[in-house]
Amino acid sequence: MPDIFKMDDATYRIENEFVRFFLVVGNEKAALIDSGFNCADAKSIADSLTDKPVILINTHGDGDHTSGTGSFDEIYMTEEDFYGCGVAERFPEVKLCKIGDGEEFDLGGRTLRIITIPGHTDGSVAILDVENRRLFSGDSVQNGDIFMFGEKRNPEQFEASLNKLIAIRSEYDSIVASHSEPVLAADYAEKVLESWLEVRNSGKEYPVIDMHGSKVHSCKGAHCGFFLAI
Ligand SMILES: [Zn+2]
Repeated sequence: MPDIFKMDDATYRIENEFVRFFLVVGNEKAALIDSGFNCADAKSIADSLTDKPVILINTHGDGDHTSGTGSFDEIYMTEEDFYGCGVAERFPEVKLCKIGDGEEFDLGGRTLRIITIPGHTDGSVAILDVENRRLFSGDSVQNGDIFMFGEKRNPEQFEASLNKLIAIRSEYDSIVASHSEPVLAADYAEKVLESWLEVRNSGKEYPVIDMHGSKVHSCKGAHCGFFLAI
């Protein structure tokens, strides 16, 4: 059973080994943001925390964010990642409900807005908890190591997506990340961008490490790291 912490009366963070996912509860509905790693029973965890009906919204399709998909009948996520990250193959019985930029979910007095931020994956999204002024950033803004190697990553789009989050900074007071430290200051997208530019432009030879069978450069910037293709 993962460790569960209350972020406020209606928001939970569910710590699941090296990743976390979230339950946000409105007056009528609740949404699980991601479903963790090796956590096939994610829906029963959510149901143990709220009596409201729970929908599942995914920040992106990587395996450590989607393990509990099969405990739901349908999943809200981008078409790009449903097919591009193998979610459709792993969970053929689950129905895709496509989401796109600007789409809003009304949970009853609580709105979640989708912001597409391709780069880490083609179909990554951030989720703005509008009234609570929190931005759930998935993997794309965090103070750990951001995976940017492999064919589904797009460095140019990643940079544009960080700028997109920076442009709406007046709409959130904190950033909530899926890995490493859970709650970051609202200026952390700027910090990730600063580290990204530092790493990309440094001309340094970063150390090579093995990451799940791939050799990658481990590039540490001042505010976060990146695993980049060799
Ligand atoms: Zn992840």
